[in-house]
Amino acid sequence: MTLVRVKRVWRCPHALCPKSTWTETSEVIAPRACLTQRARAEICRRVGEDGASVAATARDFGVGWATAMAGVRQHGAPRVDDPARLEGVDAVGLDETAFQAASATRSTSFVTGIVDLTRHRVGPARLLDVIDDRSASALVSWVDQRDPAWRAAITTAALDPYRGYASALRAALPHAVRVLDAFHVTRLGFAAVDDVRRRIQREQTGHRGRRDDPLYRIRRLLRRAHTHHSQRSWQRLLAGLDAGDTTDEQLAHTWIAAQDLRLIFSCPDRARAAQALYRWLAYCADADIPELTRLARTLDSGRAELLAYFDTGGISNGPTEAVNLLIKKIKRVRHGFRNFDNYRLRLLLYCGVDWNTVRATPIRGRLPRLAA
Ligand SMILES: [Zn+2]
Repeated sequence: MTLVRVKRVWRCPHALCPKSTWTETSEVIAPRACLTQRARAEICRRVGEDGASVAATARDFGVGWATAMAGVRQHGAPRVDDPARLEGVDAVGLDETAFQAASATRSTSFVTGIVDLTRHRVGPARLLDVIDDRSASALVSWVDQRDPAWRAAITTAALDPYRGYASALRAALPHAVRVLDAFHVTRLGFAAVDDVRRRIQREQTGHRGRRDDPLYRIRRLLRRAHTHHSQRSWQRLLAGLDAGDTTDEQLAHTWIAAQDLRLIFSCPDRARAAQALYRWLAYCADADIPELTRLARTLDSGRAELLAYFDTGGISNGPTEAVNLLIKKIKRVRHGFRNFDNYRLRLLLYCGVDWNTVRATPIRGRLPRLAA
C-alpha cells in the first residue's frame, strides 16, 4: 500500500512577518521522512520478532537498507535497553558463540551469551544479553554494571567448562552456585573418545580416517549412548573395536569412561554422584590414557561445580543451547555480521524481547465444521 500525504504550506499575509511561510507537521510522520512511524515500527517487528532480513524487509517497503535499519534501531533500542527485561531473574546460563569466522586478516572472534534459566519461568528460552568477548574480564565488567539487587538475586549460574567463566563468576557473583552443566561435561567425555580414536588411527595407518578404516567406520557409533544401540549397531561397534583398537584397548577404555561420565548425572543424589565421580576418577587414573588423564584433571579441578548440579535440582543449560540455535539462525539469515552493535540488537530483538503482538484470529479452525 502506498500512502500519499498532502502537506499544506501556510503563508502569513503580513509583509514584515519574520516567519512568512511554514509547513504543516504531523506526529505520525517525521519531516522529510518517507516512512510513517507505524511503518518503521512494523519493519522493526518483522526484522526483530520474525527474524526477517533487513534487506528483504527494505525491498518490501520500497526503501533502502539504511532506512529500514534506522527504523529497527529507533524502535528496537528502547525495547532492548529496557531495564525491566532483566527483572525477576534468579539463574543464568553462560555460553560462548562464534561471532565472526576467521579470515585472512583476523582470527575467529567469540561472544558470550547470557541466558535466563529462571526455573519458575515458562515460555521459550530468553537471551538476556550478549557480551563482545568471551574473556573473564568482559563478563566481570558486565555483571558490575548491573545493580546490586539484581546481582544479589542470582542464586545459580550454569557454565560451560571453559575455565574463564568460573573464575569470572567467582569474582563477580561470589554468592551464586556455579554449576558445570551436564550437556557440556558429557560432550567433553565423547570428545575424548574422538581424540583417542584419531590418535590410534594416525598411529596405525599414518593418515587421517578413510572410509574403510575400521575405527573411522564406527566414529558415530562411538558417540552414541550405550542404551541407544540396536542389536546390529552393537555388533558393528564391537567388530570395529576388535579390528581397530590397540592391544591394550585404549579406545574401549575411553568409551567406557565417557559412558560412565554420562551416567554420573543420572545418580539420584549428590552423595551417590560424588562416589561415582570418585570411582570414575580412579578408573581414569588406572587407564593411564593421555586424553583421559587430561579430561579427569579438568573435571577434578571443577569437581565442586560438577556436583553442584545435584544441589540445584538438576539445572539444565538446555535453554542456553536452544538460544545458541536461534543465534545461528539469525546469523544465517543475515549472511554474517560485521557490526557487533547490530548483531547484539538483532539477537536480543529475536530471542530476548517479549513482543506481545496481537495475533490475527484464525479465519477457520483446524477442523472446519462449516465447510463451504
Ligand atoms: Zn506572521
